[in-house]
Amino acid sequence: MKKFNAFILSFLITCMVVTVSCDKNGDIVLFSINNDISLGQQVAAEIESMPEQFPILDRSSNIEAYTYLEGMMNSILASSSVTYRTEFPWKVNIIDDPETLNAFATPGGQIYVYTGLIFFLDTEDHLAGVMGHEIAHADQRHSSKQLQRQYGVSVLLSIITGGDPGLLTQIASSLGTLKFSRDAEAEADDFSVLYLADVNDYACNGAAGFFQKLLDSNAQTQPEFLSTHPSPDNRVADINAKATEEGCDTTMGADAVSDYDEFKAALSN
Ligand SMILES: [Zn+2]
Repeated sequence: MKKFNAFILSFLITCMVVTVSCDKNGDIVLFSINNDISLGQQVAAEIESMPEQFPILDRSSNIEAYTYLEGMMNSILASSSVTYRTEFPWKVNIIDDPETLNAFATPGGQIYVYTGLIFFLDTEDHLAGVMGHEIAHADQRHSSKQLQRQYGVSVLLSIITGGDPGLLTQIASSLGTLKFSRDAEAEADDFSVLYLADVNDYACNGAAGFFQKLLDSNAQTQPEFLSTHPSPDNRVADINAKATEEGCDTTMGADAVSDYDEFKAALSN
């Protein structure tokens, strides 16, 4: 028995010190939060070096659009339901590709939103809902865990230390089509509602508006949104049920629509 306790004790100590990391839920993780941040920054640098695949909208000549989108991101990050809101170096990028209806997040909080998605949506509540969903994928470590499953922890660690540039390119290229589990998708939808409920700047079921619009238009999105098992109509129902459970505001403000129109106009210039 003593031996067993000593084993537990040494395990806990290891957890608190260096060899093994624990996340804020107390779960032991082999790939730490700092690893998430490093991998995210390396992937972001790789994405930046691939302008043909990822034409990132220049910040200095699109100040108005970036100010708007960063304001939205920071508003959502004010939610106390975001676990790593102060630890992750959150950053949002706009990919200038009006044909692509997608958004994605790297581990460690680098968010990418395609102009195709921005133009497709009608109100900022819908975009805030999608952004909340992407923030949740990074914050709940879905992206990190999915990559760990796909490539293995040791391979990912070797990428961070510069060991496999080819694989880094592969990960950067495929992140927008990373397939999450049904549970991860449902969890990201739920957190989107929770974040928006906390900050009270947007209709808390904004993500449902996005999926409803998909249903109404028969638009083809990228797999980040299509590959998921809860079908869009189930997701609309689930997101609305979560909003009812939270008792949060689901009204869409008229002013918000014109702000969003100005944002879209700034992007079209
Ligand atoms: Zn997702």
